[in-house]
Amino acid sequence: VSATAAPEPELRSIQALIIDMDGVLWREQQALPGVAELFDLLTSRGLPFLIATNNSTSTRDMIGERLREMGAPIDPSRILTSAQAAAAFLLRQVPPGSRVYVVGETGLDRNLTWEGLSEATYAIRAGALFVGTNADVTFPTPRGLAPGAGAVLAALQAASGVAPVVVGKPEPHLFLTAVERLGTSPERTLVVGDRLETDILGAQRAGLTSALVLTGVTRPEHLEASSIAPTFVFNSLIELCQALRG
Ligand SMILES: [Mg+2]
Repeated sequence: VSATAAPEPELRSIQALIIDMDGVLWREQQALPGVAELFDLLTSRGLPFLIATNNSTSTRDMIGERLREMGAPIDPSRILTSAQAAAAFLLRQVPPGSRVYVVGETGLDRNLTWEGLSEATYAIRAGALFVGTNADVTFPTPRGLAPGAGAVLAALQAASGVAPVVVGKPEPHLFLTAVERLGTSPERTLVVGDRLETDILGAQRAGLTSALVLTGVTRPEHLEASSIAPTFVFNSLIELCQALRG
């Protein structure tokens, strides 16, 4: 697959980037080719960026440390997790001083209890706004796929009869929070991701320009079979860097 740069909108009109992590910056603990080059390029061009992730199980300091180990020292303020975007969303939705019941601690609650689920169910049934960080039903662990935030949301939805408002991709809130922080317009902001049904669909829903990189879960045959069309497709971050340089 060669880079299919559509004539409109052109990459040179891009003023900021929102970058996914897994399958874009790294894969299975290994930094992907072009990571350091990309951040060097963005810094030298003065292009603002945010690393935005559905992952709510890591804090931005943990993610920052991981990137530093991979040779990409990124200021933690450049990292936006779905947990942070959920907090920003709540600030807009409920009056200051409102009580918030959180299911989960640092990221996903590893000590989820019947009592905790019950408290959340009572609150939702009493009319509390029900917000989820992301709807990912599983996440990978060394032992296989473990239940993710989406599995907890499904349990609460079953018990309460209320569907959550989900902040993470492909819903638009995470990206719109990122655009607000970047101070750009959606169409001049480029989402770089590896997953059609979250990164690229989320970018479309939020009105952003998108670049799919084929270093993660999406294979060229998936792209051909999908109705979700990214604005640009690149084999790797190295190709994206070449295109950004023009
Ligand atoms: Mg990814």
